[in-house]
Amino acid sequence: MIAVKDVVLRLFAERGVDIEEIGRIVYELQRPYSDSISLEQCIESVLRVIEKREAQHAIITGIALDMLAEQNALPEPLNSIVRRDEPLYGVDEVLALAVTNIYGSVGLTSFGYLDKLKLGLIGRLNDKEKGKVNTFLDDLVAGVAAAAAARIAHQRVGDAVDNGVAGSGSSGGVAGRGGSGREGASPSASPSPSASPQVREAASG
Ligand code: MG
Repeated sequence: MIAVKDVVLRLFAERGVDIEEIGRIVYELQRPYSDSISLEQCIESVLRVIEKREAQHAIITGIALDMLAEQNALPEPLNSIVRRDEPLYGVDEVLALAVTNIYGSVGLTSFGYLDKLKLGLIGRLNDKEKGKVNTFLDDLVAGVAAAAAARIAHQRVGDAVDNGVAGSGSSGGVAGRGGSGREGASPSASPSPSASPQVREAASG
């Protein structure tokens, strides 16, 4: 049986999504919080996110809906709604949050930030190219990037806890520069040892 991860990578490539470009978005999100962060680390984190079944299922579902809408193969009124990327539809964001949430609520601020600013690749996908439907894809990319950034933040805080320097208030951030995200602003918002076991487990994955 073909691995779902390989399907995800193929679909991303076919739809114009470069893993390295997602890594660059993650790098932009994480740079304000770490001097030592590298692009390679960010790309690696993206790849780790798409190894998760929840991420894979959300991605193949969303891209399938984009492709079907492109072929006018969805029933109405859904086809028109997805084709137009109606602002009040919102299911595209909800689906993408299934990816972001793998690493806990710490990724939510980044997702909102990316949804608003549409950094790099996300902005390009969001621009309506004639005949192309990326209604789900732009949000899925934002969801993956936010999850990959949250994963790095969890690891960094986990390391800080292990080294006895947790709660410095500068280690947990995942929102981008200028974002008014709660992460990084408050030590209590960081995924400290009080983070749920699921989040701790996800962060180690
Ligand atoms: Mg969308």
